[in-house]
Amino acid sequence: MNTGTATASVQYSADESFALRMDSEDPLRSLRDRFHIPTGANGKPLIYLCGNSLGLMPKGAAAYVQQELDDWARLAVDGHFTGHTPWYSYHEVFRDKLGRLVGARPNEVVVMNSLTVNLHLLMVSFYRPTKQRYKILMEAPAFPSDTYAVKSQIRCHRFEPNDALVIVGPREGEETVRLGDIESILEDHGDQFALVLLAGVNFFTGQVLDMRRLAAAAKREGCTLGLDLAHAIGNVPLALHDWGVDFAVWCHYKYMNAGPGAVAGCFVHEKHAANPDLDVPRLSGWWGNDPATRFRMHLEPDFKPVASVDSWQVSNPPILSLAPLRASLDVFDESGMDRLRAKSELLTGYLQFLIDQMPSNRYQVITPKRSAERGCQLSILVNENPRGLFKELEEAGIKGDFREPNVIRVAPVPLYNTFHDVWRFAQVLARHR
Ligand SMILES: *Cc1c(COP(=O)(O)O)cnc(C)c1O
Repeated sequence: MNTGTATASVQYSADESFALRMDSEDPLRSLRDRFHIPTGANGKPLIYLCGNSLGLMPKGAAAYVQQELDDWARLAVDGHFTGHTPWYSYHEVFRDKLGRLVGARPNEVVVMNSLTVNLHLLMVSFYRPTKQRYKILMEAPAFPSDTYAVKSQIRCHRFEPNDALVIVGPREGEETVRLGDIESILEDHGDQFALVLLAGVNFFTGQVLDMRRLAAAAKREGCTLGLDLAHAIGNVPLALHDWGVDFAVWCHYKYMNAGPGAVAGCFVHEKHAANPDLDVPRLSGWWGNDPATRFRMHLEPDFKPVASVDSWQVSNPPILSLAPLRASLDVFDESGMDRLRAKSELLTGYLQFLIDQMPSNRYQVITPKRSAERGCQLSILVNENPRGLFKELEEAGIKGDFREPNVIRVAPVPLYNTFHDVWRFAQVLARHR
């Protein structure tokens, strides 16, 4: 692979002037002004490479929250129906923009709860083990919360995680999992799996799985496919409906910039969500009921699920916590995921190019090199004095993320990071001994 070229038209260069020129010619450069950039000890904006952990605050967020505070003060209970954005249907304002972002129909996405809670709720519906088909297939390394959730679900059904949880990891001496290895387990033992649960983008290595291909492989074997998109949404383009994914869950505080502990999202394919004849069991609450009869309460004791993913909602949602997501979705919807992805590939490719200029014994990028197999994030194995490097980055006003014992994860985000950010980060790497 020629690491000097990101696309046919861009020839990377390690000169600072190249980074500055890329920034001045960047068609998305104005998006950075839509975010609050924290400042470092020297009063200058931080180089924030942590958007994969907690995205920056959109400047529009405060007004959306203030609107709901004002309506609460002004209208109290009437805010449910006569507020600026009535709270009774507040969750509906996300449908269209979120649907466009993940490639879903509006009735397939809803914002509710937090990620792990949604994973549990959807596993209640979509992990339906039988004596023959009871196993769950996951890939390694998996995020600990997902593993805890899955093991506890397995135990709830009186199976043993040691037997029922099958994990495909990278091969000896390799860093990322091979698609072919997942596919061959499915080919050989597909009829044992009730559920295949994969991360669209791996939190540790930054690897992007070919979700279309794996959805097809799961479907061939009659397995339900669930995706954890915590590191995928707002990072790579998604087409959940067309890929035939059964369900997906994600959070909104990473690339989605909706704030600490933001309300999460989920997707249920229309073939399950909008099919009244299909009796998908779900843990029910009043917000999942048909809104036309929701407030009849004790007059209608039988749950009537609304014919969409909204029927997985349990409680009435936290309006003040939902509000900031509107500001972030505005930005995504205006810029479009395809344009963001195009910049992202250039930006991450540039970081890879600069690291490739350094002596190969010092850093090893464990994220795949092909841009189709990675998003914003590069995970860099630091061979010498990793903790020292982390300190040098802090001193240079650069925020990254350190994972014991020797991996730093950095995510140049196309919404608010610049080519010059990447160049300055690489300067610190090059100086480090
Ligand atoms: C960030 C992340 C989570 C976080 O779970 P919460 O329920 O939001 O605390 C879970 N799984 C994955 C894969 C993640 O990346």
